[in-house]
Amino acid sequence: MKVLFAAPADGWDRWQGPLTRACPEMELCREGDPAGFDALIYAPGYPEDGGTLDFTPFTRSRVVQSLWAGVERIVTNPTLTQPLCRMVDPGLAQGMAEFCTGWALRAHLGMDRFAQDGKWRGGEVPPVASGRRVTVLGMGEMGRATAQALAGLGFQVTGWSASGRPVQGIEVLAGDQLDLALARAEILVCLLPDTAQTRDLLDLRKLALMPRGSWLINAGRGTLLPESDLLRALDLGRPGHAVLDVFRHEPLPQDHPFWQHPGVTVTPHIAAATRPETAAPVVAENLRRAMAGRPLLHMVDPSRGY
Ligand code: NAP
Repeated sequence: MKVLFAAPADGWDRWQGPLTRACPEMELCREGDPAGFDALIYAPGYPEDGGTLDFTPFTRSRVVQSLWAGVERIVTNPTLTQPLCRMVDPGLAQGMAEFCTGWALRAHLGMDRFAQDGKWRGGEVPPVASGRRVTVLGMGEMGRATAQALAGLGFQVTGWSASGRPVQGIEVLAGDQLDLALARAEILVCLLPDTAQTRDLLDLRKLALMPRGSWLINAGRGTLLPESDLLRALDLGRPGHAVLDVFRHEPLPQDHPFWQHPGVTVTPHIAAATRPETAAPVVAENLRRAMAGRPLLHMVDPSRGY
C-alpha cells in the first residue's frame, strides 16, 4: 500500500515513526506520481506553497485520512471526490476535555479574583460544581468527552447538537433549542465545527441570552462568533469573559482588539492536538479498511461539512 503524507514537512518527524509502526505494510512517501498512491494522509498547510491541493490526479486513492478533527479547509475542495475521513483520536478528545475543564474551573472558582496585591479577600466561599450550570455546544467526539468530564466533577451539564442524539448522563437539547441552551449557560463551552450552518451562529442577539457575567470558552472554530458582536456583548456583560482558542485569522494579528480587551483570554489554538501515538492506530485501521473495501470509520458527510 503506497500512501502520500500530504501534510506540512514539520510534521514528518513526529508522524513517520508512529504511522509506520502502526501500519508496517504501508510505504509512506512525501512525494511521487499521484496516480500511484492508494491513499493520502492529509493535514492543513499542505501544499506548503499556499496553493490548493488538486485531488483529481489521485485516481487510485481510496481514502483521504485527515490528521485533524476539523476538516473545513478540505471538505469544500471541489476536486475532492475520494472519501474523506476526519481524525478521531482518544488523545485528542482527552486533551480537549482537560483544556475545557481547566478553564471552566477557573471561571467557576473565580480564580482571577486573587490578585497578589496585599488585599485579604476572605468572606466569599466559592460555590461547588453542583450549583453551576454549564452548556456544551457540539456533542461530537470533543463535546461528549468534555461534557462527561464536567459532569463527572458534578457540574449541571446541558449539551446541544443538531440531532439532539442522547449521550449517557447528559441532557442533550436539539437544534431548535439553542436559546434554551444559551439561557442556561453560566459557562458555555463551544465545540462546534466550522460549517455553513455554524458560521456566525453566536451573534449579538444569541450572546445576549447568556446570563450576565457568564463565561464563554470557544475551542471549536473562530467563525462561530462575529468578532465585533462578541466585543460588544462583552462590553454588555453577556458573557462577562471569553476564553478564545480559535480565530478567524490565525495567528491572531498583534493589533487585534482581543489582545487588549480585559474580558478576553487568548490561547493560540492549542486546546487539543492530535497525538501521533494514539492516532496512528486509528489511521492504520482506516487504511486497511480502504484497501480491503470495508466500510471506513469517521467519514465526513460533505453535504453537512463535518
Ligand atoms: P464531531 O464529532 O464531528 O462533532 C460535531 C458536533 O457538532 C456534533 O455533535 C454535531 O451534531 C454538532 N453540530 C454540527 N453542526 C451543528 C449545527 N449546525 N447545530 C448544532 N450542532 C451541530 O466533531 P469533534 O471531533 O467533536 O470536533 C468538533 C470541532 O472541534 C472540530 O470540527 C474542530 O473544529 C474543533 N477542534 C478544535 C481543536 C483545538 O485545538 N482548538 C482541536 C480539535 C477539534 P450531531 O451530533 O447532531 O451530528
